[in-house]
Amino acid sequence: MALRSVVVLPHRALMTRAEEIANITEDIVALAEDMAETMYRAPGIGLAANQVAKPIRLIVVDVQYGSADPKEKKKQPIFVINPVITLTEGECTFEEGCLSVPDFRVEIRRPKIVRVEGVDLDGSPLAIEADGLLARALQHEIDHLEATTILDYASVLRRNLYRKKLRKMAGRGD
Ligand code: ZN
Repeated sequence: MALRSVVVLPHRALMTRAEEIANITEDIVALAEDMAETMYRAPGIGLAANQVAKPIRLIVVDVQYGSADPKEKKKQPIFVINPVITLTEGECTFEEGCLSVPDFRVEIRRPKIVRVEGVDLDGSPLAIEADGLLARALQHEIDHLEATTILDYASVLRRNLYRKKLRKMAGRGD
């Protein structure tokens, strides 16, 4: 396993709709394991393949590890290939951040409960009924596959200010 670099806006991979995975090759399994390691190291609670510059439909989440008691910490990454949200229920608002959108947080209203279907790394069908933070993380990562980031949920004003800041960070001025 190896750490991968997490790309940040305005990287092209974050603005590219991820492609369906037709065959789960060894490369894809290795990528998934690298993504998990990268997520734990960041630390983060989820990562989409777009964030490591591979726009394919693969996500990993683990919302327990970061907040678990140090003595009981156990890595339990959930990998989903070709995830699809097949059911949503309720609504709630929560402030989100993103490893690919540094120094930015925004309140996002999303369904509270979701059912996500896809396949695991062995190609077996997978269905997850999620609530709370897990539901949130899954939706956030699936957004990445659709080339959507938290910036897209911000007001036009905040979005423009952030883009200006990005241009400055890139040394291109205004
Ligand atoms: Zn993100």
